Amino acid sequence: MIKKIAVIGAGTMGNGIAHVFAQFGYTTTLIDVSDERLKSALNTIGKNMERMVAKGTLTADDKAAALQRIHTSLQIASASDADLVVEAATENTEIKLSIFRELDACCRPETILATNTSSISITKIAAVTKRPSQVIGMHFMNPVPVMKLVEVIRGYATSDACLKQIMECSRTLGKVPVEVNDYPGFVANRVLMPMINEAIETLREGVAGVEEIDTVMKLGMAHPMGPLQLADFIGLDVCLAILRVLHEGFGNPKYAPSPLLINMVTAGHLGVKTGEGFYKYSPGSKELVVSDRFKT
Ligand code: NAD
Repeated sequence: MIKKIAVIGAGTMGNGIAHVFAQFGYTTTLIDVSDERLKSALNTIGKNMERMVAKGTLTADDKAAALQRIHTSLQIASASDADLVVEAATENTEIKLSIFRELDACCRPETILATNTSSISITKIAAVTKRPSQVIGMHFMNPVPVMKLVEVIRGYATSDACLKQIMECSRTLGKVPVEVNDYPGFVANRVLMPMINEAIETLREGVAGVEEIDTVMKLGMAHPMGPLQLADFIGLDVCLAILRVLHEGFGNPKYAPSPLLINMVTAGHLGVKTGEGFYKYSPGSKELVVSDRFKT
């Protein structure tokens, strides 16, 4: 029975994951190496819950109770009494392998160790533990409190019982879990990233401009956001890293990242987080302004 949760990493995804577990009644410990990140995560969770109260989707009492269920810690060892650990630390293989070695050493043998990785092999992460059957991918989407999907990734050694528990646990959070197997990019990024890459190549070849490409995909395919704007939101460095995983993992040139994407990342134009990608972002403004570089 899953009751106690530990979430490793209090960044964008970690705070959202802790939010939903606490909201749905789980005692949740949020763990990070940075005290600043923990404080900022609690602040974000409080604000996001307040917005739900204002909208009438959460009562003020339920908000107060959920916040009471969240504890914070700077030590991975604080995960030792958890029934389920969801790791959402930085997308770096060495960092994740080291966290999983530590979790494997301090958690009970029956504890499930899940990762929210976007692209790193679940099988590879599981292989550094003594419990590969209890290691699984639990890929939440951003923003976690809003998005319904959990892509549940079954590693090569993940047991049926572990998969069943995580599918059921995801449903208790009001999410829709979808089971997929452990191959590069899983399903979400294997389908999304080549589309984003192709949009960037379409721009590079001069077939159409930034707004034109995004408008075609928004109005023609009913996508809520065009692929170039979405890439800016995800972070162009993150898109490049995932394309490299697909390219290396399958050895297929169709996944080769666009040279324009590589140039933009090298130049530090990473999208929303640096203030400029395909569009320019100014604080406090929601207006979409195409970057000067791509103005026609
Ligand atoms: P982020 O950079 O916002 O947060 C990462 C956090 O991990 C930071 O607070 C950092 O201090 C912490 N951290 C680093 N090393 C740590 C350690 N050893 N122990 C504890 N904490 C540590 O990153 P994010 O965007 O929240 O991404 C987290 C994970 O979620 C990644 O694996 C990413 O691929 C995945 N993911 C991200 C998105 C997204 O849209 N951002 C969507 C789905 C999945």
